[in-house]
Amino acid sequence: MKVLVLNCGSSSVKYQLFDMTNESASAKGLVERIGIAGSRIRHNKVGDEPVVKNAEIPNHKVAIKLVLEALLDNEHGVLDSLDELTAVGHRVVHAGEKFACSVHINKEVIDALEECVPLAPLHNPANLAGIEAMMEVLPEIPQVGVFDTAFHQTMPDYAYIYGVPYHYYETYKVRRYGFHGTSHFYVSHRAAEILGKPVEDLRIVTCHMGNGSSIAAVKGGISIDTSMGFTPVPGVIMGTRAGDLDPQLITFLQEQDGMDPKAINHILNKESGILGISGVSSDLRDVEEAAESGNKRALLAENMLYYGVRKYIGAYAAAMGGIDAIVFTAGIGENSITARARICDGLAFLGAVIDPEKNNIRGKEAVISTDDSSVKILVVPTNEELVIARDTKGKMAELK
Ligand code: AMP
Repeated sequence: MKVLVLNCGSSSVKYQLFDMTNESASAKGLVERIGIAGSRIRHNKVGDEPVVKNAEIPNHKVAIKLVLEALLDNEHGVLDSLDELTAVGHRVVHAGEKFACSVHINKEVIDALEECVPLAPLHNPANLAGIEAMMEVLPEIPQVGVFDTAFHQTMPDYAYIYGVPYHYYETYKVRRYGFHGTSHFYVSHRAAEILGKPVEDLRIVTCHMGNGSSIAAVKGGISIDTSMGFTPVPGVIMGTRAGDLDPQLITFLQEQDGMDPKAINHILNKESGILGISGVSSDLRDVEEAAESGNKRALLAENMLYYGVRKYIGAYAAAMGGIDAIVFTAGIGENSITARARICDGLAFLGAVIDPEKNNIRGKEAVISTDDSSVKILVVPTNEELVIARDTKGKMAELK
């Protein structure tokens, strides 16, 4: 059974083809700069060198045709015929309160996702463009939507309602949704497997730290709280997103600088966080380097990030009535030895003690706490594509 996983952005399509008989990926790639000059596809048959083809790619339909051509290519392809493809799984960012699990996509699902566009005006239209393009190109292939928000739908109301008048929730569905759900689900459940314990018995804080970062409290295998909110802006500082703020700061800045909502959104999403504080880069590697050579604002950005994550770990330990494991994932969580060490420094009072030698790894699964640390600390590389492929396979079985 072969499943194609698609992650469609406004100007890009990331793809991965899985053989679900053994859950192996046989090819992956990226279509970039859709609708912009210089568009191209980078295709990688697993085990081979990537190949790049420049082409005019005005829209998602052309992008998807190129993906299918690449998968069928005589030299670099992995399929003899599109008949081998059983289903397509899509990453979709926002399902609002409509879907708490993955769904087989039909007309009603598309309508529901369109209704969610005001909640994710940048992401959902791109995800829908990918779904609609796929439906046009391969109408007979079933498609499944896997949502970033779904895993967090188990949060209790007191964790997701904001302290503004309740009618804003009723009218505009203003509430905490949370994101990176597929990643928090994967790494928490994988951590339980690594520890050899049922996930139902564990209280885990998952730290997804990449260019976008979110922390989640996963109790008994379900999400009970997370640091992102109505949008992906809140929580810890990120590459270019601000993280938690006093909301009245926005109106203050509007009054001071006369900025409109678009300008404010740009600042909060693109000019803040690690980039905005350090003035160096949104990339933590550059900021770590600058801090080491004495740049004070780079050091401040690092300190803010590590302090912020540590505070969330403490808060979520309290929210879950204790903690059994801390899991690090995504670009920073998987690769930054310094970030993990600095975040966990001072968590011994919770029973979480990192082992510097075990922590000296990048990009692979490992338990990095000391043997006698009662809270286990793990690195688990995330694999959202595999979750999407598994869910797609699962939905196909239900359809039979
Ligand atoms: P992601 O969004 O998951 O791709 O993560 C991107 C972030 O991971 C960027 O801030 C990178 O600086 C960070 N990152 C990747 N590799 C390393 C590394 N070796 N050390 C520190 N940060 C890293």
